[in-house]
Amino acid sequence: MTGEMRAPAAPITDPWQTIRSVLRAEFGERTFESWLKPLSLVRVDGDEVVLGLPTHFMCDWVKNHFAERLRALWACHAPGVRSLRLIVTQAARAESAPLLTVVPSTPAIDTGDDAELGARLEERFTFDRFVVGKSNEFAYNAARRMAEGGPLNFNPLFLHGGVGLGKTHLMHAIGWAVRQAKADAKVVYLSAEKFMVAFLAALRHKDTISFKQRFRSVDVLMIDDVQFIAGKESTQEEFFHTMNALIEDGKRLVISADRSPYDLEGIEERVRSRLQWGLVADINPTDYELRLNILHAKSEAMPGVTMPADVLDFLARRITSNVRELEGALNRVAAHASLIGHPITLDFARQVLADVLRANDRKITIDDIQRKVADYYKLKLADLLSARRARDIARPRQVAMYLAKRYTPRSLPEIGRKFGGRDHTTVMHAVKRIEELKSTDSELEADIDRLSRLIDG
Ligand code: ADP
Ligand code: MG
Repeated sequence: MTGEMRAPAAPITDPWQTIRSVLRAEFGERTFESWLKPLSLVRVDGDEVVLGLPTHFMCDWVKNHFAERLRALWACHAPGVRSLRLIVTQAARAESAPLLTVVPSTPAIDTGDDAELGARLEERFTFDRFVVGKSNEFAYNAARRMAEGGPLNFNPLFLHGGVGLGKTHLMHAIGWAVRQAKADAKVVYLSAEKFMVAFLAALRHKDTISFKQRFRSVDVLMIDDVQFIAGKESTQEEFFHTMNALIEDGKRLVISADRSPYDLEGIEERVRSRLQWGLVADINPTDYELRLNILHAKSEAMPGVTMPADVLDFLARRITSNVRELEGALNRVAAHASLIGHPITLDFARQVLADVLRANDRKITIDDIQRKVADYYKLKLADLLSARRARDIARPRQVAMYLAKRYTPRSLPEIGRKFGGRDHTTVMHAVKRIEELKSTDSELEADIDRLSRLIDG
């Protein structure tokens, strides 16, 4: 039998999970939710465990109130760990991703002169570390162009694409490159939300003039996630004025959103058309090749970690949602392996990532599978779902049932219903039969392998 069918090994105990449940029980739900749940595991470095929190304030609080207990729990549940360090991480604040957040050690560095206005640039978000593929090369080239000196034939640059595809990374990379070319360049990067908050505060203090001046004195202004200010009239108005003034002064402006300017709702027409004067560059979802290249680049940058090729291939095929999740999955496998001293193998990665894989699998539907299997065997979909028992139809049908079981969370009766109303015992039989045959029939095994790749995308 192949690895696919092997019974799962004993579950890997995750010390961090265990410690978190102990903390929850000891300190109670409220304290846990406020102070301890936001902790993220950054890395284990020799005998030191590094945990991250989103703000300095939280860091100080946790340090003063819980550090000793945390350290003791780590020492008890992860033999080898002796000391504990708390750091402020950007990523800890990120989305409520179910992943263990593991971020590289480099702290964010303040680059802007006007630090209170903008946010810090993440040190690892540079052009060097951005892997270029078909889906993002246009945006990448536009960003590079924006970062170079010299005349620009477009302004602003509007980057858009789904979450976790590298918009923020490219913006920070522009910031770094601009500052590298000209050390005193004034680069301000901030989220649209922060822009809005700052503007509303200025309004309250009747101080919108200096607010404008602050923005207008920058060389490059970058506003991330402007979908947040869509529909917020007063902020939009100010944004528009600032944008116009900057462009007229020949300053560079970079904007990002999760959708194109055409699809931004509640944005005034003149703002929208001004945005469209610039260059609109979209970042598309990744393909397999780009995902694999990203994984190679990221795993090579991990000191002392060797990721076998089959693990990288597996991650690239299975974690298709976005680069953030892909990166998280890779870090998580590495962190778990080093934590419990387990070699990194395909089975190990499967176990560590069970939840992420399920979440990524959910997008594969039985219909998809049926269509792909019918195409692959050059059958009509209707035949695959029919009652016909001819072997050249019955076998592909069994394969499709087997794949439906493997790739979707559907139950046997549900799968049966989707296959022309068959009984769950028929599905069960099909799954068993294919599992058996796969180990003896290499042609069938190859078919299933190719089909798996087609389904993984
Ligand atoms: P977005 O702002 O589009 O939601 P981010 O820029 O925050 O996405 O990217 C999410 C994560 O994925 C970051 O850690 C980023 O470094 C990484 N990432 C995204 N695209 C790439 C890429 N092409 N090469 C390397 N890393 C990438
Ligand atoms: Mg972003």
